[in-house]
Amino acid sequence: MFKTNLRSLIASRKFSSGNNKQVNGAYDVIIAGGGMVGCTLACALGKRALLSNLKVLLLEGNPSSEFRVKPEYSNRVVALNQNTKSLMNSLEVWEHVEKMRLQPVRYMQVWDACSDALISFSSSDLQDDDVAYIVENDVLLCAIDKELKSSNIKNVDIVYGAKISGYDLPKINDTKMESTVKMSNGDTYKCQLLIGADGANSAVRKAMGVQYLSWNYDQMGVVATLHLSEATENTTAWQRFLPTGPVALLPLDSTRSSLVWSTTHSHAKELLKLPEEQFVDALNDALWKQYPRRSVVDTCTSWVGSCLRRAGLADGAERQLPPSIRAVAPSSRAAFPLAFGHSTRYIAPGIALVGDAAHRVHPLAGQGVNLGFGDVKDLTDFFADAIYTGLDITHHTWLEKYESSRQRHNVPTQLAIDALYRLYSLDIAPLVLARSVGLQLTNALYPVKKMIMSQATT
Ligand SMILES: Cc1cc2nc3c(=O)[nH]c(=O)nc-3n(C[C@H](O)[C@H](O)[C@H](O)COP(=O)(O)OP(=O)(O)OC[C@H]3O[C@@H](n4cnc5c(N)ncnc54)[C@H](O)[C@@H]3O)c2cc1C
Repeated sequence: MFKTNLRSLIASRKFSSGNNKQVNGAYDVIIAGGGMVGCTLACALGKRALLSNLKVLLLEGNPSSEFRVKPEYSNRVVALNQNTKSLMNSLEVWEHVEKMRLQPVRYMQVWDACSDALISFSSSDLQDDDVAYIVENDVLLCAIDKELKSSNIKNVDIVYGAKISGYDLPKINDTKMESTVKMSNGDTYKCQLLIGADGANSAVRKAMGVQYLSWNYDQMGVVATLHLSEATENTTAWQRFLPTGPVALLPLDSTRSSLVWSTTHSHAKELLKLPEEQFVDALNDALWKQYPRRSVVDTCTSWVGSCLRRAGLADGAERQLPPSIRAVAPSSRAAFPLAFGHSTRYIAPGIALVGDAAHRVHPLAGQGVNLGFGDVKDLTDFFADAIYTGLDITHHTWLEKYESSRQRHNVPTQLAIDALYRLYSLDIAPLVLARSVGLQLTNALYPVKKMIMSQATT
């Protein structure tokens, strides 16, 4: 029945900004939310030959905007892992990103302000592949949009400036799997499968009525674009765990880096208000200042270091010095609340959640959107399998496969990031000692380090 409907659907592509009347109607799939994850999903549904008969609608509340790479960098960037690069390559999006701009990360150093412990990752740990890529959110969105609007995709309609006001979702006993999406201008759309890609405050998730475990970290992420004191190759990402939260520098080009500084609400507000010079001083302090040390921690870590050295293992002495900051780009400072979120179900009859709508993490491991892109990859693979085996994409078998495959990956990753946050947010001697020795051993034992790298890149 579903497949017969598909054949009769004529996919006409229209792009409008607010004139929703043009595309009012029925679809196989509606994606609510055109952020980085929703747009990528639309692109993946458009590019996969087996799915090209699906009629897809992407609804995004923000208006469409013409993006051009400017000399100044945006303050919103993401660190993308190798799996995201592969996905973007398969969608022919990566070449657009490369033509605009990205910065490879070839080395990453993470260290503790309360001890000498550190961990480093380098390209050589990944068979000479880059550790990550720093890409501005706008650049990635523009690259996906270019591909979405290319002639290769014929089955996806996009409406920008489309505010969704509510949903009528199918009930468990309904024979017909159909959701109704109600727009704030009075229009309605119907679909067989509704995908919630509408971010951490997802209205789709709320309408599903699923349990959502969440807590706020008492932290904000302060972001900014920074000018370095000296020009360097600048392919290193730096992160220092301070007692108030991690401060990270992500490379942009030879003289600029992007800041993600997680700190208490009151400190974040203070940092936003400081005159530029004082902000730069506070940041250099955060990167360089010697915090009070405990002799027991120093004695133990130096003993562990010498044991590792004697065993011919990395003892952490390869420490590199972070760059010093000369200036902050005018008006580039902003702050975002940080929270944990886990939807206990990613699916319901005729509905699936992807990206931040399903899971939210602290940015300390740079994993948030990468997890969302993993959802996109698995969901499209399962849809293709469903169609290949003659079932329709709303069949519960495939949706359940999607949910269990993603939760198996996302939940441990989320819990590990949350545990790291907690481990580094306390400044009690036994805890500082335990985490410092743990970090030294992890850095020295290549198989453990490799396991962390592979979890972070899948
Ligand atoms: C400071 C900071 C640094 C980060 N750094 C990294 C990093 O280095 N690496 C990484 O992987 N992740 C990082 N993240 C996380 C990453 O930004 C998020 O995981 C990502 O933006 C989630 O994308 P999304 O598309 O799922 O959701 P969103 O980006 O929230 O997109 C949701 C979309 O839905 C639309 N929408 C919502 N409601 C409606 C409605 N009613 N009608 C119409 N449209 C609607 C919104 O307009 C929006 O465009 C960071 C986050 C922060 C805060």
